[in-house]
Amino acid sequence: MPRVEFREDRCKGCSLCISVCPKKIILLREDVLNCKGFHPAGVDEMDKCIGCAFCAVICPDSVIEVEK
Ligand code: SF4
Ligand code: SF4
Repeated sequence: MPRVEFREDRCKGCSLCISVCPKKIILLREDVLNCKGFHPAGVDEMDKCIGCAFCAVICPDSVIEVEK
C-alpha cells in the first residue's frame, strides 16, 4: 500500500494537493496548527491512496513524499 508523508511544518494550506487528488482523500487538518500558523494538509483514508503522486508533484513547497 502506498504511504504519503507530509512535512507539515512546511505546509501553507494552499489546498493545491487537495484539488488534484483523484481519490479526494486529502484534507486540511482543522484540528492542527503548524509552526507557520496554517492548518496543514493530511490524508484521511490512506488505504484509498493509489500512489499516483499528483499531490507531491503539484505541491509548491515540497511538503509531500509518496512511498510506493
Ligand atoms: S498519491 Fe495520489 S491518491 Fe494518494 S494522496 Fe496523493 S494525489 Fe491522492
Ligand atoms: S499543496 Fe503543499 S503547501 Fe499546499 S496544502 Fe498541499 S501540502 Fe500544503
